[in-house]
Amino acid sequence: MGPRDGHRGELSPADLLVAGGGPAGWSAARACARRGLDVVVVDPHPDRTWRHTYGAWCHELPLSGPDPLPPGVVAAKDVGWAIATRTHRLDDEYAILDTGALQRALRDDGVRVVRGRVVAAGPGRAVLADGSECRAGLVADASGAVQTLTTGRARGRRAEQTAVGVVVDEATAARVTGGRLLFMDWRPRHGVPGWPTFLYAVPLGGGRVLLEETSLARRPGLPMPELAERLRRRLLAAGLRDDEIPLDDPARVERVRFPVDTPDHRPPDGVVALGAAAPLVHPATGFSVARSLRAATRLADACVTRSDHGSVLDGADGAAWARRAVRGGSGGIVHAMRRRGLDVLLRLPPGEVPEFFDRFFSLPAGPRRAYLGADDDVAESLRAMLWVFARLTPRLRGHLIAGSLGGPGPDQCR
Ligand SMILES: Cc1cc2nc3c(=O)[nH]c(=O)nc-3n(C[C@H](O)[C@H](O)[C@H](O)COP(=O)(O)OP(=O)(O)OC[C@H]3O[C@@H](n4cnc5c(N)ncnc54)[C@H](O)[C@@H]3O)c2cc1C
Repeated sequence: MGPRDGHRGELSPADLLVAGGGPAGWSAARACARRGLDVVVVDPHPDRTWRHTYGAWCHELPLSGPDPLPPGVVAAKDVGWAIATRTHRLDDEYAILDTGALQRALRDDGVRVVRGRVVAAGPGRAVLADGSECRAGLVADASGAVQTLTTGRARGRRAEQTAVGVVVDEATAARVTGGRLLFMDWRPRHGVPGWPTFLYAVPLGGGRVLLEETSLARRPGLPMPELAERLRRRLLAAGLRDDEIPLDDPARVERVRFPVDTPDHRPPDGVVALGAAAPLVHPATGFSVARSLRAATRLADACVTRSDHGSVLDGADGAAWARRAVRGGSGGIVHAMRRRGLDVLLRLPPGEVPEFFDRFFSLPAGPRRAYLGADDDVAESLRAMLWVFARLTPRLRGHLIAGSLGGPGPDQCR
């Protein structure tokens, strides 16, 4: 293995070069290094501490298996609840990760780390901003939502998930949530008309709770000041005082903005895209971390299989095999189905969104899990869509058909 933070000029060829040291890049790097591959991670800020609050359904986290995470990565977990026009207990446990523990767990000392920015990549090579070149059997783009290496042309605005949250203590949060982990609370307690937002309320461990006003998907994303004001109004309506809502304390505020649809993204020929650069982002929930963790194991296994068959990891076939491994067998089909779901959501009149989610959260656990989860089960995802469709009002069905046939429609300016 080569040196960490080695001089770029001296960098010897690797089996895998990963552009981007976020959760997706490090998941893949670690899984491949654990199988004995020589891996390089390039990132402009390789030592930057990850700050986002990551959540995932417990059953999707690889706490056992070939690339297990230590149990300490789960900071807190509880049964999830969803409130639309009715209250739904979701049966499944939802976990909030200890982001620092996740970052430490994914960091593998066997991986060579290079401080730099990849500006171009192709089969078997990546060029850094300082002009140096790294050679590797396989190059992966894990540059996140910025998708630095994309070759697609951006057409129009992307749908974005935006949110503003505050961290409060458990007792204060319980006055808003009743002590429940709220995956989504669509009650419009903020009293603001227009595009619907929901409360995401999750324990962070250590007696702290994140209360986050969230806009699931909108094109363009709902502005931060509006979300902050809605959160403030919601929490005041629940009985909190202004001085209990720490919107002015940067250490206790989380701001979220990331795209949930990347229709034109194409990784360069010979490059496999990972995580938010993939797009492996779930179009309906915006989640990608659990999926990246699982995709990393598939990619690493595929790399080993190719090495075992004597073919060095050469990028000659456009890395198609690596893309197949990352996406999984039916990943493309299920992703397309979920994209349709996103189009439906973007077309719904604001007043009808809670009713739509009421039907959705009435789903039996199997298809609900399949639709929301990191797995790609075509049959169960289709079952979920048909089940919800069959229970919608005629008017909601009309919107669903319009969204399915007509795409996302114009930008939401209301
Ligand atoms: C506040 C917030 C909360 C979120 N919460 C959740 C959640 O609860 N659950 C969930 O599943 N998802 C969540 N997401 C969505 C998504 O999973 C995250 O954005 C996640 O960080 C994506 O991981 P990633 O590794 O693909 O990209 P990033 O985490 O964005 O990492 C990309 C890395 O690439 C580096 N980079 C960029 N360009 C280059 C380049 N040219 N060359 C080399 N390196 C480069 C960057 O410096 C960065 O380190 C959240 C997102 C945000 C913003």
